Amino acid sequence: MADWDIVVIGAGAAGIGAARTLAGRGLSVLMVEARDRIGGRAQTVRLGDAAVDMGCGYLHSAERNAWAEIGAGLGFTIDQSDPGWRTQYRNLGFPAVDRHEAGEAFARFSGRLRDNPPPSDRAADALDPDCRWNAYIEALSAYINGAALADVSVRDYLAYDDAASERNWGVREGYGALIASALPRRVELRLDTAVTLIDHSGPVLRLETVAGTIRTDRAIVTIPTPVLAAGRLAFNPPLAAKRDAAAALPLGIADKLFLAVANPGDIPCDAHLLGNPRSAHTGSYQLQPMGHPVVEGFFGGAAARELERLGPEGAAAFAIEELAGLLGNSVRHGLRPCGGSAWGRAAWIEGGYSHALPGEAGQRAILAAPVDDRIFFAGEACSLQDFSTAHGAHDTGRAAALLAIGKPDAGNALPARVF
Ligand SMILES: Cc1cc2nc3c(=O)[nH]c(=O)nc-3n(C[C@H](O)[C@H](O)[C@H](O)COP(=O)(O)OP(=O)(O)OC[C@H]3O[C@@H](n4cnc5c(N)ncnc54)[C@H](O)[C@@H]3O)c2cc1C
Repeated sequence: MADWDIVVIGAGAAGIGAARTLAGRGLSVLMVEARDRIGGRAQTVRLGDAAVDMGCGYLHSAERNAWAEIGAGLGFTIDQSDPGWRTQYRNLGFPAVDRHEAGEAFARFSGRLRDNPPPSDRAADALDPDCRWNAYIEALSAYINGAALADVSVRDYLAYDDAASERNWGVREGYGALIASALPRRVELRLDTAVTLIDHSGPVLRLETVAGTIRTDRAIVTIPTPVLAAGRLAFNPPLAAKRDAAAALPLGIADKLFLAVANPGDIPCDAHLLGNPRSAHTGSYQLQPMGHPVVEGFFGGAAARELERLGPEGAAAFAIEELAGLLGNSVRHGLRPCGGSAWGRAAWIEGGYSHALPGEAGQRAILAAPVDDRIFFAGEACSLQDFSTAHGAHDTGRAAALLAIGKPDAGNALPARVF
């Protein structure tokens, strides 16, 4: 006999999206989470009076982002001002003429991906070897994909629905706080409960966890791809196609670093700086965002991996060096590290967000497809067009939940089944 109608595995944006869809339908729903907190890659922490996000911070595709409406309903303050990523405070180190040229180079690169994609499906093969902005384009890939262009599938990259990507809103109280507070109270939650095996050989699913066995009729699996690829959650009988799909959709690395500002008057407010537009290994810095006395540094790809290796002090030294190079040596003594992420080393997550390896764009559909109408899959990597985002994760969770309760109106967030 099953103990539960449905168990949701993983309490990130996808799991919470699923739980919200299932709550109040008269079903018994259990959520199990390996870590000691909910949210997954959505995590707001307080630094003094500031609420800052270690993971997702911006409501991308804001006007169709489910979290915008959910957040407004929960009383969160949605900040619709532009984050200014394309601006450079006082043109420091990146004059307007260079920004224009670099932007044009990126537009030409994007055009080649779209109109003349390389047969290899490797995004790096669309770079113009003579272009002097290739390092800049790689830096953007590090932020967007968390990975170098050599590891990115063109077909997958183009599938991302960026029609509304110009709208990127913030959440004053934190995006992570919004997502965590959206978990309905009536869904039972067990933290520190990693599922290590789903035995689907019998009529009832048996979930082996570090805290004992759970029996359920249906399960929604929302765990990050590295965990699946490594077999840290395994299946009996094995689901080799799922493991292969997860391995073909690795998580790139993305990290944040926060520097406390001792003298808020010395650093501009709500301004943006790119550390070095001529390097692929550079930070993108939000200066005192929303008036908080912090600098938020964002790093992707190899740069993020290297800063994780260096640790908090080394990462801060790198960031302060870049900022002092732009704002002047005097800012050094007023900046000190006060927080940061190392998502590549976070147990049960192990990275930032997914990209498809060259030739592997079709794996998202394979990862997302249900098994036997009782094991359902969700999570940002399962989204066909909003992957790598918290709203994409939400929508796959909602779609998987609708499928799990036999609602055909799951929408197009999940593909038709292939099993
Ligand atoms: C630095 C950074 C910045 C980002 N910025 C943005 C942004 O601005 N906007 C945006 O939309 N997105 C952003 N993202 C991406 C976004 O955070 C993720 O896409 C999204 O949160 C993923 O949600 P998820 O539910 O798919 O996965 P997760 O949040 O990873 O949730 C999966 C959960 O499963 C748990 N789990 C794993 N294995 C097991 C197991 N065996 N048993 C039980 N539980 C398990 C994990 O602990 C985790 O809590 C950012 C990510 C990072 C790292």
